[in-house]
Amino acid sequence: MLDRILYEAARRHGDRPALIDGAGTRTYAELEAVSAAVGQALLDLGVAPGDRVGLHAFNSWEWVAAYHGILRAGATVVPINALLTADEVDFILRDCNAVALIGSDDSLARVADATTEITSLSFSAFADLKPAAPLQPSLEPDAVASIAYTSGTTGHPKGAVQTHRSVYLNMALTATMHGRTDRDVLVTALPAAHVYGNVAINSTLMAGGTVALLERFEPAAALESISRHRATLFEGVPAMYSRLAADENLAAADLSTLRACTVGGQTIATSVVEEWEARTGAPLLELWGMTEVCGLGTTHPLYAPNVHGSIGVALPGISIRVATFDDDAIEAAPDEPGELQVSGPIVMHSYHGNPTATAEAFTADGWLKTGDVATLDRHRYARVVDRRKDVILSGGYNVYPAELERVVAACPGVELVAVGSASHSDLGEVPKAYVVPRPGADVDEATIISHCRAHLASYKIPAKVAFVENLPTTSTGKLLRRSLGELDV
Ligand code: ATP
Ligand code: MG
Repeated sequence: MLDRILYEAARRHGDRPALIDGAGTRTYAELEAVSAAVGQALLDLGVAPGDRVGLHAFNSWEWVAAYHGILRAGATVVPINALLTADEVDFILRDCNAVALIGSDDSLARVADATTEITSLSFSAFADLKPAAPLQPSLEPDAVASIAYTSGTTGHPKGAVQTHRSVYLNMALTATMHGRTDRDVLVTALPAAHVYGNVAINSTLMAGGTVALLERFEPAAALESISRHRATLFEGVPAMYSRLAADENLAAADLSTLRACTVGGQTIATSVVEEWEARTGAPLLELWGMTEVCGLGTTHPLYAPNVHGSIGVALPGISIRVATFDDDAIEAAPDEPGELQVSGPIVMHSYHGNPTATAEAFTADGWLKTGDVATLDRHRYARVVDRRKDVILSGGYNVYPAELERVVAACPGVELVAVGSASHSDLGEVPKAYVVPRPGADVDEATIISHCRAHLASYKIPAKVAFVENLPTTSTGKLLRRSLGELDV
């Protein structure tokens, strides 16, 4: 099923540009020809349908060709974030029992010790592969397309088993919700190895649009790419928008061609959304997703006004509910916080090799428990409060770090903020804010605390504000709260 995307797009849009990266532009026909050759090469190397093949590299056109090539061979893609260490890659390859690894020379060299027992195929060999007759798309919807590992924000990454049906539908529904067409040009630095990046890229290719893929996020390069390629779409995590807003090249960039941008992966402060929308004149649509739903679960329909602070509505045909904390089969009242749950064909099959975690992930009536605290309003628009695991218990009160982060982010002079906890003799835990100031900004602890006092109840005020140069992030660019304590401040 998923192996049809590039096959069909190449027949409809053969000469149109599919992918632009630092190495140039590839048409749909060129991308498809290489992906068919990669598929054939894997079969020639002895990879059998259903075998797991790792894909480990930074964003590039070869990444996209390899992704579709692995699917063409009937094998299961295991995307591995390029920033992971050799040990982390080794963990994933062993966990899913991979038989082969495809990647750039650099990525393969970095993990050489971990891959001595499996076949590897380098991007640099793609030019010499023999041309293959396009393999006819043949895969059944229930076949496993991918084992995708979670970001590891709360612990060890878990491998979500994703079927062709789930991934294909996620991409198709996302394309529909955002009205993607063959006139779209998407610029993104989201890692292709993460579900958000993968769906951004492939939902655009499905529609016949062009994807300008940045190897990794760097504000000046992103602004330049948007201007040069006359981007209609830009997609990223919240920290990217904060960094773009603070970049010295922003004023000179031509952002007038953007028709929409999306943001997800973490909560974003409304002040950041407003600033970006004012600069671009285009809506910044918040979306929510997770590896376990194969991409997005909710987003804003393009035709409706953007509701700031909300992650939008469920994708068409997908059900979401907010269950009470006491009984996960009972729906919370409108606007009451509870656990966000998802049901429908985009939900993963299981966690690979982990029946205990799989059983814990589903309710008795089969809904996926996301671990996120959220509310639903009367119009079924959802808002994320925070992750259940990140709640800070301070003197008997629940403090949600995301709420503080939104408030601190709106304080003038703040570029990035993450809230963690510090231990306290009387209260147990107290919130502590870690702030990266904007370049040249004059902002101090007292200013931030008084800004918080104006917007938050007293038990939520950070007990301390630490100023830092950088914040720890996951390989997908999310702020990593569980590592804040390691910052020496
Ligand atoms: P791990 O599961 O390994 O701890 P992770 O949950 O960060 O890592 P992902 O699957 O990449 O792995 O991320 C999904 C999570 O990201 C969601 O469960 C949610 O907590 C968070 N998230 C995604 N979109 C949003 C959003 N718009 N607002 C708030 N949180 C979001
Ligand atoms: Mg998770």
